[in-house]
Amino acid sequence: MTNVPQQNATVQKLPKYIETDLGTEKLCIHCNEYWPLDSEFYFTYRNKKRPEKIYYEAACKCCYDLRYRPNRNKNKGINAVKSYHERSTAA
Ligand SMILES: [Zn+2]
Repeated sequence: MTNVPQQNATVQKLPKYIETDLGTEKLCIHCNEYWPLDSEFYFTYRNKKRPEKIYYEAACKCCYDLRYRPNRNKNKGINAVKSYHERSTAA
C-alpha cells in the first residue's frame, strides 16, 4: 500500500470520451458530467465535408442553453426564483 500523492492528476483534463458497460459516454464541457453519446443527450450537427458523420455538441442538452444562450435561461431562472420566493414569504 502506498500513498498516492497524485495532486497533479486532478488538475489534468478529464478524457472527452469514456467507455462504459452501456457504451460510449461523452464529457459535457459545462457540467463536467458524462452522458451517453446519443442524440437524446446531445444535440448533433453535420459537417458538409463529411455528411456521413454525426458530430455531437460539446455541451449536453441540459447545459446547451446555459452555455450558448445564457441570457434566455437566466431570465427564466430569475422568474422562477422570484415566484418561489414570493410564495414562501406569503405563506
Ligand atoms: Zn452538461
